Amino acid sequence: MKRTGMVAGILGALCIAASSAAFAQAKVYWTTSGMFGPFDIRGLIPALPADKSRQITIPVSMWVIEHPKGLVVFDTGNNVAVGEDCKAYWAPGNCDFLKPSQKREDVIDMQLKKLGYSADKVKVVVTSHSHLDHIGNIEMFPKAIHVLQKKELYQAWWPEKFQGRTSPGSFVMADIDNAREFNYLELNGDYDLFGDGSVIILSTPGHTIGHQSMKVKTASGQTIIITQDAVWMQENLDGYPAGLNYSVKDYTDSVNRLKMMRDIENTELFMAHDGDQFKAKGARWYK
Ligand SMILES: [Zn+2]
Repeated sequence: MKRTGMVAGILGALCIAASSAAFAQAKVYWTTSGMFGPFDIRGLIPALPADKSRQITIPVSMWVIEHPKGLVVFDTGNNVAVGEDCKAYWAPGNCDFLKPSQKREDVIDMQLKKLGYSADKVKVVVTSHSHLDHIGNIEMFPKAIHVLQKKELYQAWWPEKFQGRTSPGSFVMADIDNAREFNYLELNGDYDLFGDGSVIILSTPGHTIGHQSMKVKTASGQTIIITQDAVWMQENLDGYPAGLNYSVKDYTDSVNRLKMMRDIENTELFMAHDGDQFKAKGARWYK
């Protein structure tokens, strides 16, 4: 019995070693490029019934992932110029509706500095999609490898007219006009970023033609599913679709895929624009 106990102990120790070796030491920080709001939630989710109407103030989520093979940023927020003079940079209608509160210290380069990094040390910038609150500062990272779905690159430079090619649309040419010669990893679907299963890019189209999300397995084994705009906020999980979609069918398929992943892996979805969730769980590391 004694001997069996010892063997079991050794096996247990080996299992713990094996499970921690299976995941690289990825850790994730959730931050925001200032806030949007307050405004009526039905401005974003018109399907919501009047009795569920409320004023919301929401984050503009950005993520920093530290991995032994390199530093990753997932989305770069609103362009730095938005905090200086919004209406000189975005269409005035976007400034009036979204009411961005971004200060200089909220911008991704300063957020990296706050965490002890500099922007030029970022190896990979993953951009969920090419809307103004997600791709705003990619030009701060000219040396990084930029990861987008290939379809999204097409759309970034020539968006569908109904999705806002012209002012006051959600695509801002000045965000990307000097980024054409950047080094792009052009994806067609899911991708294991470091080849070790710790950072998986997930294709989640619908909000835009080539939207992508991310799944990170932290060193402790926790699964962090970062939806970005595949799911804006809780009401979308409750069945009320977002009011801005390239394809409602693809959007619905992506929401369902992420929900299934959440339930199977027994974790939660971290959403791009949920004020309550960010208040409870943002501005902190997940290790
Ligand atoms: Zn967004």
